Amino acid sequence: MKAAVLNEIPGELDIEDISVDAPAPDEVLLRVVHAGLCHSDLHFMDAHWPYQLPAVMGHESAGVVQAVGENVAYVKPGDHVISCLSVFCGHCERCLTGRPNICANPSAVARPSGASPRLAKPDGTEVGQFARLGGFAEEMLIHQNAVVKIRDDMPLDRAALIGCGVTTGLGAVFKTARIEPGATVAVYGAGGIGLSAVQGARIAGAGRVISVDVENDKLETARQVGATDTVNASDGDPVEAIKEMTSGGVDYAFECIGLKQTCEQAWSSSRPGGTTVIVGMMPFGEKIEITGYEVFMLEKRLQGSMMGSNAFRVDMPRYVDMYLDGRLMLDEMISAHMPLEDINVGYEQMRQRVGTRTVIDFD
Ligand SMILES: [Zn+2]
Ligand SMILES: [Zn+2]
Repeated sequence: MKAAVLNEIPGELDIEDISVDAPAPDEVLLRVVHAGLCHSDLHFMDAHWPYQLPAVMGHESAGVVQAVGENVAYVKPGDHVISCLSVFCGHCERCLTGRPNICANPSAVARPSGASPRLAKPDGTEVGQFARLGGFAEEMLIHQNAVVKIRDDMPLDRAALIGCGVTTGLGAVFKTARIEPGATVAVYGAGGIGLSAVQGARIAGAGRVISVDVENDKLETARQVGATDTVNASDGDPVEAIKEMTSGGVDYAFECIGLKQTCEQAWSSSRPGGTTVIVGMMPFGEKIEITGYEVFMLEKRLQGSMMGSNAFRVDMPRYVDMYLDGRLMLDEMISAHMPLEDINVGYEQMRQRVGTRTVIDFD
């Protein structure tokens, strides 16, 4: 099968023909129909995070089950599914206390060491799966706890976005922050995750929803999907603008970019007693500076959100329903479709901040 493989860091993706093993007892084989280009892959391709190579990149995919291993009862061939990198073991302390998104037992969902690899090059070299998924491929062979079954009437290109960016943004609002109706919200970044956080705030009944970005066309999309106000951060200090709009700061600030500067701006945009949620993926080892005074005297809270604090088998079907009943706007978020062969063009456009979400079509 064809797949987009990262062979060196930093580097571009190579389209290669690689072989896929048969499903082990707990594995499912998917035919991928669509995959979204998410910024996290770029962090690895651009060497901001380390990774073991070679690996098939991609982690935002939707497709159809082709075959299942003998222990798999949850899905059957023909089922439509979304994959999710929050692969859960189901029996560790974190899984059992409502935090499967930070499962402590990832080896439980991998093949045992010494087993034949799931993916291999023609010369037998093992090929890894980015985020335990490897979604930029015609087929994915993954653990059954990496998929959620969805309604057949959900278009699979829209469904793919729910696999990472949408769940991350909505979940940061619904599940990590649990905002109250009427709360004021600022969202830094109007890419796939930021626009999803804006929509989460709208759906959750936020009062003011302020979208911050440096691209006016992205801010325009943010307005379409629910921002009540926009701030172009290249026109001046966004913190001052937000404080002025909200008489001293927002109740909740979401950082959906992954930069030290915007994390600190989000923090400074939140009011005393407010919460700042870090959703973006920062370069590995990057530190954020905040003053102890604000944490202590002003009771400000800094909270991380890993993949929107998801329990994805519960959350993603709900997000699918929200799309199909018209509350969640996904059509507006897809800016381009392209074949797998053009994937490096898609990532170069992302580096240039062109477009919102690009979707790879496999059919
Ligand atoms: Zn992602
Ligand atoms: Zn677990």
